[in-house]
Amino acid sequence: MSPSKKRALVSLGLGLGLASFAISAWARPGGGHSYSGSSRSSHSGGGSSGGDGGDAAGLVFQLILLCFEHPAIGVPILIIIVIFFVVKAAIGSARQGWSTTSPEAVQAVQQVQQDARVPRSELDRIRALDPEFSLVLFEDFAYLLYAAVQRARATGAQAIAAYVEPSLAQRMVDPQLADVQGIVIGAMRYVRFSGTQVPMLEVELELESNYVEVLRAGGSRRFYAVDRVVLARSASARSRPFKRAHTLDCPNCGAPLEAVRGTQCSYCQQNVGFGRFDWLVTSLVNCTREERGPLLTSDVAESGTELPTIVDRGAPARFAELQQRDPDLSWQALQERVMHIFGELQVAWSGRDPMRIRPYVSDNLFQSMYYWIDLYTQARCRNVNENASVMRIDLANVTSDVHYDAVTLRVFATGLDYTISDDGKLLSGNRRRPRTYSEYWTLIRGSATRGAPRKDNNCPHCGAPLRIGMAGQCEYCRVKVTSGEFDWVLSRIEQDDSYG
Ligand SMILES: [Zn+2]
Ligand SMILES: [Zn+2]
Repeated sequence: MSPSKKRALVSLGLGLGLASFAISAWARPGGGHSYSGSSRSSHSGGGSSGGDGGDAAGLVFQLILLCFEHPAIGVPILIIIVIFFVVKAAIGSARQGWSTTSPEAVQAVQQVQQDARVPRSELDRIRALDPEFSLVLFEDFAYLLYAAVQRARATGAQAIAAYVEPSLAQRMVDPQLADVQGIVIGAMRYVRFSGTQVPMLEVELELESNYVEVLRAGGSRRFYAVDRVVLARSASARSRPFKRAHTLDCPNCGAPLEAVRGTQCSYCQQNVGFGRFDWLVTSLVNCTREERGPLLTSDVAESGTELPTIVDRGAPARFAELQQRDPDLSWQALQERVMHIFGELQVAWSGRDPMRIRPYVSDNLFQSMYYWIDLYTQARCRNVNENASVMRIDLANVTSDVHYDAVTLRVFATGLDYTISDDGKLLSGNRRRPRTYSEYWTLIRGSATRGAPRKDNNCPHCGAPLRIGMAGQCEYCRVKVTSGEFDWVLSRIEQDDSYG
């Protein structure tokens, strides 16, 4: 990461006739890169669903679910509601359209939504309902679903009908699009979680991404977008088996998607839609999008470095437990692994060489770094992190689920951090004065994996010098080494002011 924490203050003049807005982004690898909004405008639509639609859809789903699971209760309620709406429509048809709220009220709601952030650890509560639930796998799946619905805006959602709320599936298709390609997710944040005391769990996520829209009329446009996505799943659903965790297939039996017609699976004969068996997308709202990427060259002061480390109370005991399961996992060795990754990260970032860090980061973090390094490349500049070193590492948290152990560490570091153009001009930062900063790093490892963390550049599976492809496979043994199955990999970097 780059030593100085600079936040690039990004001004995006929005197209779409909206007021321009400013967002700030960290300019360090991974850290940064989260936009935190100030006076952000928001529009819902673009053929997608609005927030109200999402909530209403949630209710409809809960009702449909009720019809499946308790038809004796659900079906009569459904009939009553249908009658109610038919009568209401008859009465209301005299009026010219309707609007539920004033623009001011909509804006106020949007402001609340914008400020709403839930700690991701909240989702760990799902494990009480579903012991196999894994936050790591959930996030992988959310990335997968987001990319699938983005593509479906062009190709239609028939193929993924089990994973998209039907009215959204209709609304989101844009007939002008031939394809949506190259979807890269730069960041994901948690906006809202319904909690577990509901029949239908709901998680609202905010994603920054870029993608290319290919138009039917010819030509293509690349966009940088911020989208809000709502995922919903029945509270009685259970996580899919690990080996299917990264596939879109029949949410119930795992048959290939071709076997699912609409939401009916021809293998298991179940209706597999409506979040009965797995997460589905109930709302997709585009908040902003812009053909230019964010500006990368403003300084923002470091904040939060002096604050005490947020240590989860049970962390030391759970780390001791981990060590009991794996005596080769020493605190010293783990710190050395972190420092090794830290060093590789500096080189990869400054040299705009994302493949260099590929062996040490999870798929999602890699995607994020790739996104940001690509932005620098496009802008013909680089963020240089020089003479960076780790000063101290604190233990912040340890969590374990059925599939993964995760250790969160607070890393204090110092070094030079500046941004220069490709022709050598200093654009921001300082080439002489080092900055001190801290970040929370979360490393994950498969829960069955044992052994001392490595601090060399050899494949943790075959021992050959590491050459890793985009997908995280060792070029010699073809084994994927970045899933945490062999060693600790970095899966998240959070800044002091966003960790909590
Ligand atoms: Zn099936
Ligand atoms: Zn290998």
